[in-house]
Amino acid sequence: MASPLGQSATLHDIAARHLHARHRLLQMLREVQASRSYVPEEAIQFFAHVLNLPIARVRGCVEFYSFLHTTPRGQFDVYFSDSVTDRMAGSQIVAKRLADRLGVTLGQPRADGRVTVSMTSCTGHCEQAPAGLVNGRVFTRMTEARIEKMASLIEHGVPASEWPAEWFHVDDGIRERGITLDTVIPPGEAIRAALARGLPATLDEVERSGLQGRGGAGFPVGRKWRGAFDTKGTHYITCNADEGEPGTFKDRVLLAKYADELFEGMTIAGLLVGAKKGYVYMRGEYEYMMEGLQTVLAERRAAGLLGENVCESGLDFDLRIHLGAGAYVCGEQSALLESLEGKRGIPRVRPPSAVKIGLFGQSTINNNVESFVQAAQIAWKGADWFSAHGEAKSRGTKLLSIAGDCQRPGIYELPLGTTVREVLARCGGENAKAVQVGGPAGTCVGRAEFDRRVSYADLSTGGSIMVFNDLRDMVDVARQFAHFFAHESCGFCTPCRVGTQMLKHYADKIADGQGTQRDLEQVSSIGEFVKAYSHCGLGETAPNTLLDTIKRFPEEYTSRLLAEADFVPEFDLDASVTESRALTGRHDQLDQIHSD
Ligand code: SF4
Repeated sequence: MASPLGQSATLHDIAARHLHARHRLLQMLREVQASRSYVPEEAIQFFAHVLNLPIARVRGCVEFYSFLHTTPRGQFDVYFSDSVTDRMAGSQIVAKRLADRLGVTLGQPRADGRVTVSMTSCTGHCEQAPAGLVNGRVFTRMTEARIEKMASLIEHGVPASEWPAEWFHVDDGIRERGITLDTVIPPGEAIRAALARGLPATLDEVERSGLQGRGGAGFPVGRKWRGAFDTKGTHYITCNADEGEPGTFKDRVLLAKYADELFEGMTIAGLLVGAKKGYVYMRGEYEYMMEGLQTVLAERRAAGLLGENVCESGLDFDLRIHLGAGAYVCGEQSALLESLEGKRGIPRVRPPSAVKIGLFGQSTINNNVESFVQAAQIAWKGADWFSAHGEAKSRGTKLLSIAGDCQRPGIYELPLGTTVREVLARCGGENAKAVQVGGPAGTCVGRAEFDRRVSYADLSTGGSIMVFNDLRDMVDVARQFAHFFAHESCGFCTPCRVGTQMLKHYADKIADGQGTQRDLEQVSSIGEFVKAYSHCGLGETAPNTLLDTIKRFPEEYTSRLLAEADFVPEFDLDASVTESRALTGRHDQLDQIHSD
């Protein structure tokens, strides 16, 4: 990760700059990782001491996040995005080419400490794939020719800041604009409109608009704000800018181009409920936008739109940006709050909801980037303007990030209720045989269902649309998603911790042509179990693509099954959960299961 500190930052400097605040532990650890390529034991002990935390808690934090390491990485730390659509664009080929050229094993630092080449979950640039990160800087459209040059630059120790600028160019990717992308709010105007209308009346307006949470779950935004408004005590506003769902990259564009609208929406929510502080939780992969966002925040403070006496309202509200460190589960609301408090991102037990007991135990409004942007626009332009779009039970428009087998991948803003067929026509994906709506946690539909609608009443999505043509192997797609969930399970609850490992095992067995009908049945029964008994949304959705593809593309599974006589009835469950044990540090009794 890039560091403003360089090698010279001491642990004392880092802790002092973060005011020795425990909840900023993750930010401190990120800076150590950035400047030293790992978090040494000395740093773990130091932060435990100065923050008065148990050493196990600090170490647990380091071990939990993918971008933190307890052993040195390379001077150049290269990650390639491993989303399905990045793979389709050749990410694994270019990653292997770079590893071969540099003489490294994927994921292992080279003996001389010069370089590490790894795969990571989706980095959020699928329409410009193959994408990745080098020392925290995002590169896009990697080619084999560029890899040759990259290998040479690394061998010669040329800093990434001196590499060709075009490698780091990120397009906004906007293909179609609707009311959201066409509405640019002059800074402060939505706040002033809300104050002029009256804050309670603005809350009515947001409720009347029918705006639902744009992260995918669709909880009414106005109802959430009303719940916080009616709750006494201290309040916080948090924005989920984690955007970890593979295939989703529309918040990236909003953060880059519509930061004023985002901050305006958070400020209106803050003034409404009397919150004095808000936090944007932004995925670590988007660190390259930090400087631009900090500039916008500084301009807003200078203009009296943040800080004390916002817009002369007599109310105070300010914002900070907190960076994640590579943990998909932190997109889950309560895990995000844990991470914001500087802990491992383990989902909390609910109820109570975050509106009642959220960040630091106080009432919290947590919404997605797109939700805050649209709420600000509603405050400025009114509920009728917004609700005139979309359909009866899904008002407004939705930003979709489209990637995969289509001629025009990118960002499309379309009314909710648009059919999958229409989406495909817009992006040039008419040859699709399958569309994954909502990322790995969403729904996979085949041609027979292309008249289904993208809406909260039918196919809900946080924004990801992945397109697959006839040449794609849906069993392999499902296998990749099974690996993704097994890796991202936080390990807190047994059904997900063990179940995702079992699903990964069966997905491999079947995809490799070693499975039988009984294995397929096992996938269905384990999948239903994991969905029903997991603690949070990750486990509840982890089996979706396996179950969907078995149902919609049965011939792709049955054609590669072995005859029942070749059935291998046993596998070593203990061995299969070794990875998740190492990841989570859990060794409880429920883990000690053996199949026979
Ligand atoms: S369902 Fe999975 S991710 Fe969620 S708490 Fe359980 S183990 Fe963690």
